[in-house]
Amino acid sequence: MSWQERYQGALMNTFGLPKLDLVRGEGARVWDVDGKEYVDLLGGIAVNALGHAHPAIVEAVTTQLQTLGHVSNFFTSEPQLELAERLVSLLTGRSSGSGRSSGSGRSSGSGRSSEVETPGKVFLSNSGAEANEAAFKLTRLTGRTHVVAAEGAFHGRTMGALALTSKAAYREPFLPLPGDVTFVPYGDEAALAEAVTDETAAVVLEPIQGEAGVVVPPDGYLAAARELTHRHGALLWLDEVQTGIGRCGAWFAHQLPFGGGVTPDVVTLAKGLGGGIPIGATIALGAAADLFQPGNHGTTFGGNPVACAAALAVLDTIESTHLLDHVAGLGKALRDGLAEDPRVVDVRGEGLLIGLDLTGPSADVAAAALEAGWIINNPTPQGIRLAPPLVLSEEQAHAFVEAWPAILASAGLEEAR
Ligand SMILES: *Cc1c(COP(=O)(O)O)cnc(C)c1O
Repeated sequence: MSWQERYQGALMNTFGLPKLDLVRGEGARVWDVDGKEYVDLLGGIAVNALGHAHPAIVEAVTTQLQTLGHVSNFFTSEPQLELAERLVSLLTGRSSGSGRSSGSGRSSGSGRSSEVETPGKVFLSNSGAEANEAAFKLTRLTGRTHVVAAEGAFHGRTMGALALTSKAAYREPFLPLPGDVTFVPYGDEAALAEAVTDETAAVVLEPIQGEAGVVVPPDGYLAAARELTHRHGALLWLDEVQTGIGRCGAWFAHQLPFGGGVTPDVVTLAKGLGGGIPIGATIALGAAADLFQPGNHGTTFGGNPVACAAALAVLDTIESTHLLDHVAGLGKALRDGLAEDPRVVDVRGEGLLIGLDLTGPSADVAAAALEAGWIINNPTPQGIRLAPPLVLSEEQAHAFVEAWPAILASAGLEEAR
């Protein structure tokens, strides 16, 4: 029986049929069951920050599992403490706790606001949706219920996260969802100003929308959101599940120049944080850090030592191999190279989160790319998304730029008239 047949027989049909049967990976490359090699320019959807089978993650996970694998949240472990301290220090640019951290990367300093930074606290979980559920529940503890979210936003598939996700096809079969959510057009300062009131608990935004096809807001948008939320006593919650942990060439996308130096109240993380080991994190700064009290929230697996050790290996490797600079430089080279083809009508993104709009169906382009040995993704009808491992090499990126015109040609795309 083929893997496809077995899949159909044994797995619920939530994703459609798998496009590849994979057996092995190394760096940015994976191999299928027939031995065909692919360069993975999607990285498990922005997850495999260090690529496949990175020795630092293998070593960290193996050693931790041999030492102490799971303890429940009745107890703590050093990887959990250290990860929470590191995440707060990366977010605030301040080191905390044990002081093992060596700073917040290239974007700290000049771009940041001068306001006094408050310490923060972390809730650890297992996925992006869970990180967002925790943040959503936390907003309720402000005593307010109204949340403003963006059209095109994706925050996950659980009921709470779905309540903040605008796409009708995802929501409608599952109504009623938690209410009191207002959706506003993304990037529209005036619409945001209209929606946020003194009753608003939080504004939740992706600093760059990922699933919407990599949409970067106009300069000043996040700063305006910060100003509005301050004025109305609401929380600014940035969902960096896809954009965080180096993906965009800074530890957090909102720390890039377009973020205007904002300091959010809440940041959610997952995807790249564990480098392939499931983990989510909800970081809250200032007063928001103390909203949860015992009994308000919980998780059995969240913060387990193995997942935390994996995340620490990811953070250490990003730092020690200067990956933020690599990502910023390589991302620009990729965007510039791919945009040279006249069948590309728009290119967006920061670092290695890249969106390309094309003159024809992106599903055909993704299929042609796969045939040619490149894994890419088509989140919108004419849009391609790339989110390769941060360790993608210059040679691999260059080879893709070289292969790109032939991929577009074999998908039958024509130049815009
Ligand atoms: C992927 C994603 C989520 C959901 O994460 P899961 O781990 O799939 O639950 C939430 N927010 C954003 C911005 C995402 O890209």
